[in-house]
Amino acid sequence: MSINKVVVIGSGTMGSGIAAHLCNADISVVLLDLKTEIAEKAKERILKSRPPLLFEKGKINSLKVGNINEDFDNVSDADWIIEAVVERIDIKHAIYKKIFHKRKKNSIVSSNTSTIPLKVLSEKSSIEDKKDFCITHFFNPVRYMGLLEIVRDEINDQNKINSLKNFCEEKLGKGVIVCGDTPGFLGNRIGVYAMQVAMTEAVKMNLLVEEADAVFGRPMGIPKTGVFALYDLIGIDLMSDVLKSFQKELSTEDEFQKVVSGLPVIKKLIETGYTGRKGKGGFYRINKLEDKKILEALDLNKNEYFPVKKIDLKIDKINLLELINRNDKYGKYAWSVLSKIILYSSSLVPSITKEYNDIDEALRLGFNWLMGPFEMLESIGLKTFFSKIGDINHNKFLKSLKEKNLENFYDQRQKYTTLQTLGKIKKSVIKVDKNDSAEIYRFKDFNIVEFNTKANALDYNSMDALKKATDKPLIIINESMQFSAGVNLNYVMEFINNKDLKSVEKFIKYFQETCKHLKYCKNPVISAPSGLALGGGEEVVLQSNYVVSHTNIVMGLVETIVGLVPAGGGCKELLWRWSKTDDSKLDPDYASLKVFDIIGYAKTATSPQEAKPLLFLDTNHKVIINRNELLPAARKLLKNNADISPSEECKFKLSGKNAREKMHKILEALYNDKKILEHGMEVGKELAYVLSGGDTDLSKDVTEDQMYKLELNSFMNLIENKKTQDRIIHTLKTGKPLIN
Ligand code: NAD
Repeated sequence: MSINKVVVIGSGTMGSGIAAHLCNADISVVLLDLKTEIAEKAKERILKSRPPLLFEKGKINSLKVGNINEDFDNVSDADWIIEAVVERIDIKHAIYKKIFHKRKKNSIVSSNTSTIPLKVLSEKSSIEDKKDFCITHFFNPVRYMGLLEIVRDEINDQNKINSLKNFCEEKLGKGVIVCGDTPGFLGNRIGVYAMQVAMTEAVKMNLLVEEADAVFGRPMGIPKTGVFALYDLIGIDLMSDVLKSFQKELSTEDEFQKVVSGLPVIKKLIETGYTGRKGKGGFYRINKLEDKKILEALDLNKNEYFPVKKIDLKIDKINLLELINRNDKYGKYAWSVLSKIILYSSSLVPSITKEYNDIDEALRLGFNWLMGPFEMLESIGLKTFFSKIGDINHNKFLKSLKEKNLENFYDQRQKYTTLQTLGKIKKSVIKVDKNDSAEIYRFKDFNIVEFNTKANALDYNSMDALKKATDKPLIIINESMQFSAGVNLNYVMEFINNKDLKSVEKFIKYFQETCKHLKYCKNPVISAPSGLALGGGEEVVLQSNYVVSHTNIVMGLVETIVGLVPAGGGCKELLWRWSKTDDSKLDPDYASLKVFDIIGYAKTATSPQEAKPLLFLDTNHKVIINRNELLPAARKLLKNNADISPSEECKFKLSGKNAREKMHKILEALYNDKKILEHGMEVGKELAYVLSGGDTDLSKDVTEDQMYKLELNSFMNLIENKKTQDRIIHTLKTGKPLIN
């Protein structure tokens, strides 16, 4: 079965997201709604979406819009028809009737429902039609969420289901988990249960919503929205609908029923318009007081909002065992929530899936958890778990684990795919070295470096790992969300606070030395970024011999935002790329000005397609839509070593003062228009000094080492400046830029 044309019916949140992502894969899509204007609006929304649903705006050309009356003929030659209309069975049944009447033989039809069972959706269809009908449950936002659950039953043509799975994996880049027709499938069944448990236990234990989110969040390897902020993000009203469906579909004995009602306050919140972020607020809200925006949280006892309290659990690294053994209310809460999630998930094996690993992967891909419940169990350790949990005789899965008396039970990871992912090979790698910021693995004849700090921020240790790992061909790749958000500014600020500028300089020099080493060492270096590759992260990418880039990246040299300039070779490398363009041959200042514009404005690209025109990615890159394929693609490149040519050393002809004057003029205009303030001017001038080549002119060569020196000097000048420090402190505290 080949899929070349898709019709999506319903152009709301999900229908438009699915259509946009099909456009990303260059599949021709027709998006239909009740009226063409509704679908038109959806198209506009796609184009304006932030973060963008499209890899690049031009992808929209694969999309046509229309309405379900005049344009329904499109169904007759579509290979796949996806229904994504409101969650109402009468409306869905009416649409299936129309679709099955019109569709071509051999096409496949699916629903995006979150809550209606497959057997109910297809109850009015003929046996022939049932064979070609399944649920394809995408997650919002479709481009960014990895999970796609395909729900099928015995009647389905399994070959067709397999082809659909392959298509969604290869062309749409999804982690496709095929599962049976049980309420909430895998992801929502456990993910929503976990949220309900986290919520009800927080109230039982008298925790503030901020406290609950601080525990049921990063310390557990769960996104920082935790439970209450996630409720606000999804929509409290939408969550309430989903829960009603669980209440209806699950048996009365199901453990979920004990927590399905949630908190009494929810009804009142919905009635008063507090439906979450899209409404007036929810468990959190922004309150405007005398022109100041204050983030407040709902006190669940008093039913009133108070300014948010910052909860610091003083946890750097995820360590579940340490967390549940803490002798405070947070430890107790963590154990109570975690143990319940593990008990519930394990009680559902094999009734919802035979592969417990599929549950873990659904939580990773659909809820962005770092570990699923079974990996959490492995990480706590079976002995500890069984010693704390009490009687588990009613739980067949756990009982059998206990009887086997194993230390480690976890079998393979990512069983849903045949691709050789990092998660899969980790079991058989040799652990060469490990420090606080990164780990080096050896697999066959190459090394892997995986950063493992918060957002993979870089420090001396990260550089040390990279340098050590170049004794073999090297792939820099990671399982966590971000490739690297850049240099660890907390680490740099610690030196500054101790007035230890020497250590800052030592670190930057080591960063430069490492990047140089990556570029010129005899073994090829491949970066395989996904997520953020910013600042120092992008500098590592820039100086790798080859880049295998996931389509979901945010790439850029954003140092000026915090009052700095790129100093790990970022200015130098981007300038080198631009100086090789045709425009540069005509104008000696072209490259300097272009890079001044890109770095000065801290421009970012949100896909490889956008990164290429900025030359953040050169010709030496490959674009990969399926994150699981990053490692196999990088390995393929290593095998085919010929593709990786030795790096050429840069030698620049730069006009120095001449180019600098042009840049200063730009800065002055920005300053006069109040687009930048004093320090913006200062940072701009330092950047101008570096990119113009410093004290040089066109008759001289500027070497790579000289460029490194210029970067270092400017970086040090700026980091010593109180106003740069103010910017850094502000950004670390608020996540936002300070304009000074
Ligand atoms: P939505 O309310 O945003 O959009 C529904 C769209 O369907 C609207 O544009 C509406 O005009 C259109 N519509 C209604 N009746 C129609 C008809 N007869 N013919 C054509 N179009 C019609 O809904 P949504 O959030 O996109 O949800 C769509 C489906 O996806 C639902 O089944 C929902 O359960 C499921 N789902 C939603 C999410 C989510 O996060 N929103 C996630 C996964 C699955």
